[in-house]
Amino acid sequence: MTRNSTSVPAPAPFSRISLGFVNAYLVHTPQGFLLVDTGVPDSWDRLRDALAAAGCTKENLKLVILTHGDMDHLGCARRFQRDWKVPVAAHRGDLALISTGEGPKRRGTSPFLRLAMRLRPFRKPDLDAPDSPFLTPDLFLADGDDLRSYGWDARVVHGPGHTAGSIALLTADGDLIIGDTASNMTRPGPGMLAEDFDEYNRTLAAFHLLPARTVHPGHGGPFPFEKLPRRVQG
Ligand SMILES: [Zn+2]
Repeated sequence: MTRNSTSVPAPAPFSRISLGFVNAYLVHTPQGFLLVDTGVPDSWDRLRDALAAAGCTKENLKLVILTHGDMDHLGCARRFQRDWKVPVAAHRGDLALISTGEGPKRRGTSPFLRLAMRLRPFRKPDLDAPDSPFLTPDLFLADGDDLRSYGWDARVVHGPGHTAGSIALLTADGDLIIGDTASNMTRPGPGMLAEDFDEYNRTLAAFHLLPARTVHPGHGGPFPFEKLPRRVQG
């Protein structure tokens, strides 16, 4: 019996697009491109240029996936949805954050970050402004969802803690695009903020069981899976 090779796509390579302090990831598949995260609203020109250089256009970008609803990941998603007519996918747990910017209060994951949060509270963009970054996702992703129908041999792993709707994307090659559940600004560590420390720790414990080799964080470069943090301190 011959195997239908189109039903099991080869693992698609992806590239990191550095948008200043935050990353987006561009996945190249036989069917076109997928974009994971979109930077802050101001990074549109830079992101569009990076996509153009990779050959990604409005015609061949199939899906934008948000690892979570924070503004440094959501920033340009509405441009793709409204201007490029590309569907945006996210976990339902971050719907309020994505559609209004409202969400539960969060705390820094270190004493320094807790102090920094108090001194410099986050300013929310205007919901009703014409250039508002907020949107309603076209598609909700859930734990275990398979992305092979988009030509990418990867699955969704729900990992609440940083936010309720944080997800990671685990590829068949063992790459784990993890959003802000981990970061690597100076060294591998947890994300800077936590919405729920208990949930965050359960997520880290569960992530340690995944068949992953390399972690690709929302902030900073890739690092070996063994360096994934085991706990956040509340
Ligand atoms: Zn972030």
